[in-house]
Amino acid sequence: MSFLAKNDPEIYALFEQELERQSYNLEMIASENFASNAVIEAMGSILTNKYAEGYPSKRYYGGCEIVDKIEEIAIERAKKLFNCQYVNVQPNSGSQANQAVYQALLKPYDKILGMDLSHGGHLTHGAKVSSSGKNYHSFSYGVELNGRINYDKVREIAKIVRPQVIVCGASAYPREIDFKAFRSIADEVGAYLFADIAHIAGLVAAGEHQDPFPHAHVVTTTTHKTLRGPRGGIIMTNDEELSKKINSAIFPGIQGGPLEHVIAAKAVGFGENLKSEWKIYAKQVKTNAKILADVLSEKGFDIVSGGTDNHLILLSFLNREFSGKDADHALENAGITVNKNTVPGETRSPFVTSGVRIGSAALTSRGMKDKEFTFIAEKIAEVLENINDISVQQKVRKEVRELSSKFIIYDRPTY
Ligand SMILES: *Cc1c(COP(=O)(O)O)cnc(C)c1O
Repeated sequence: MSFLAKNDPEIYALFEQELERQSYNLEMIASENFASNAVIEAMGSILTNKYAEGYPSKRYYGGCEIVDKIEEIAIERAKKLFNCQYVNVQPNSGSQANQAVYQALLKPYDKILGMDLSHGGHLTHGAKVSSSGKNYHSFSYGVELNGRINYDKVREIAKIVRPQVIVCGASAYPREIDFKAFRSIADEVGAYLFADIAHIAGLVAAGEHQDPFPHAHVVTTTTHKTLRGPRGGIIMTNDEELSKKINSAIFPGIQGGPLEHVIAAKAVGFGENLKSEWKIYAKQVKTNAKILADVLSEKGFDIVSGGTDNHLILLSFLNREFSGKDADHALENAGITVNKNTVPGETRSPFVTSGVRIGSAALTSRGMKDKEFTFIAEKIAEVLENINDISVQQKVRKEVRELSSKFIIYDRPTY
C-alpha cells in the first residue's frame, strides 16, 4: 500500500478518481500531455527538501553540490535541444518565465506588442488583466478572417506603436509561426523579438517546426505541453548580457528558492526529448492533428485557416446554431475533453465563443495513431451533428472508454 493511501486516504481516493478520469477519457486539450512515470517520479522526490536560492555554484545555501549537478544537466540538455547558449531552468511556470523576460528587457510603461488573446495569443502577451498589460503599455496584432497572421499588417502596427518588445508565439494558432518574418519587423522598429514557444516546443525540439533561434533575442517555453515534461517554464537566449539580466529577473527578481525536484524532472523530460524516438512522436502528433482537420472538414465542419501545421486545430461554429460552449459540453459528456475557444470574426461572448480548440499531443503520447484519430474525428463529428441528443453522447462515451482501455498510459501509476 502506498504511503499516501495510508497517511491520507481522503486525498488518495481523489488521486484514484483523477487517474480513472485521465485513463478513460480522451484528453484533447491542446495544452495538456501525459508526463512519463520517470518524469513524475523525479517530481515527487526528496529534492523538494532542498533550498538552493541562486544558481549552480553560486548559491546562498550550503549542501547544494548535488542539486548543482542536476540543474547543470537540465541546462546542458536544454541548450542542446534548442540549440542555444544560455538557459534558465528555474521558472516555476510559463507565465513566470514571461514575467521575468519583461522585467529583464523593459522599464515600467515601456511598450510591448503581442498577439491579441482573443486571436490566439496568451494572457502574458499584454492582456490588460495580466501584469504584462498592467505594468507595460501593451498593444496587439491579430489574425485575418482566414485565421492567419498577416505579417505586413504586423509591420504596419509595429511602425505605429514602436514597441520595445515584440512578442510572437500563441496558445491557439494552428499555423507555423514565421520567426524570421517577425525578426525583420523587430529590426525595422528597433525592438527585441521575444518568441514564446510554449505550445510548439515539442515540435521545435524535433525539427518539426521552424526554429525560433537565431531569429529571436529571447525564447521562453513551458515544459509540460508538447514537450511532455513536468509543469514549469524555461528561458533561453544567445546573448550573454541578456542572460545575466534574465537570471537576476528570475532570482531575486520574482522567485525565491528554485523547485529542484521539478528541475530534475525537467532534465529527465529533456533527456526524453533528445532521444531519436522523440522525432517519431512529434511527426505523429502533426499527422494526427492533420487527420482531425481532414476528417472533420470532409464532414462539413469549418476548420479555422483550413487546416493545421502543428498539434492543434480550431473548429469554427460561426455558421451553426450551437456555440463553442455547447460543443465543449456535449463532447465532455461523450468523454472527449476539449476547450471552447474564440475564432476569427467571433460573434459570441468570450464565455460562450464560436469554436473549440482540439489538440493531438496527449493522445499521441498514449500511442494512438492514424486509425484511432480517424475514429475519434468521426466520433467528434457524430456528437456535434447530434448536439442535443444525449443518447448519442452516452453511446460515444462507451466507445471512448473501450478505445481508451486499449491505450492505458499509467499501468503502474506512481501518482
Ligand atoms: C501555456 C502558455 C503560457 C503559460 O504557461 P503557464 O505555465 O500556464 O503559466 C505562456 N505562453 C503561452 C503561449 C502559452 O500557451
